[in-house]
Amino acid sequence: VSVPIHDPYAVPGEYCKVQLHCHTTESDGRFRPRELLRMYKDAGYSFVFITDHNHVTRCDDLNDDSFLALPGTEDTVSYLLQPLGPHLGRLFVDHPTRRGTAQERINRTVEEGGLASLCHPSWTGNLWTGTWSPQAVAALRGYTFLEIVNPHSDTAKDTARWEAVLRERGPEWPVWAVAVDDCHRKDQFNRAWVMVRIAEHSPQALREALASGAFYASTGPEGRFGAGGGAVWAEFRETLEARVLDREGRVRATERGTTVRYSVQGDEGYLRVEGASPRGGIWSQPFWVVESPR
Ligand SMILES: [Zn+2]
Ligand SMILES: [Zn+2]
Repeated sequence: VSVPIHDPYAVPGEYCKVQLHCHTTESDGRFRPRELLRMYKDAGYSFVFITDHNHVTRCDDLNDDSFLALPGTEDTVSYLLQPLGPHLGRLFVDHPTRRGTAQERINRTVEEGGLASLCHPSWTGNLWTGTWSPQAVAALRGYTFLEIVNPHSDTAKDTARWEAVLRERGPEWPVWAVAVDDCHRKDQFNRAWVMVRIAEHSPQALREALASGAFYASTGPEGRFGAGGGAVWAEFRETLEARVLDREGRVRATERGTTVRYSVQGDEGYLRVEGASPRGGIWSQPFWVVESPR
């Protein structure tokens, strides 16, 4: 039986390291923009989005053929009194959104060519107004990313929110999982990132890859993911404990080693791979095994 597998990694190019969420002295971070970008550049990053609170910080000093700082913001979606409310990450934007509901701000972000992210969904800060509830995660439309690793949040709870929204939506309306530093200070630096598969080092190529899920989230391990011959596979740079999970959260395969391969049966809905080693975790995006209207 041939089952169509939607492989987000079936694109040319190499994986490069990207930080989607960090702060500078332009909001509440400890490092000046140039200082923080120098740290990321030295740590091997190819792209960094500075996402100061309700403010676009620009610093192009270190940009070159292999490194680009890109504009973003983290906007507080205030309901009653500023600065209370959940945080909306916005990438490839040149100004913050000052008002509106979460959905209105997401819509505006998309209309202006940006990509939106639900930050630290289970964060209980801002007097408990900072949470993106499972209901909000399910109801909102048009956002691209959900953070499953953020030092201010709970990865188990956030991954559960991601799985719930994936169950509801197919490949035509994906939500991709991201790991981020949300760096404000040294001990949050270079702890969580995404590895994006791109054929050329340009903002356009990066945007395309981020929008289409050609990346994985990591807090240490490196790997590659793909599908072919009726199977979903992963290869890792180090030995780790890997699991292949389906749409219902059932574990379809486990492996301790540097590879995992799972032959698709057709009833999985989607498959995703996650792994853990003493160095950290690694998470693939979903491979849907259903027909896509695309
Ligand atoms: Zn935040
Ligand atoms: Zn932040």
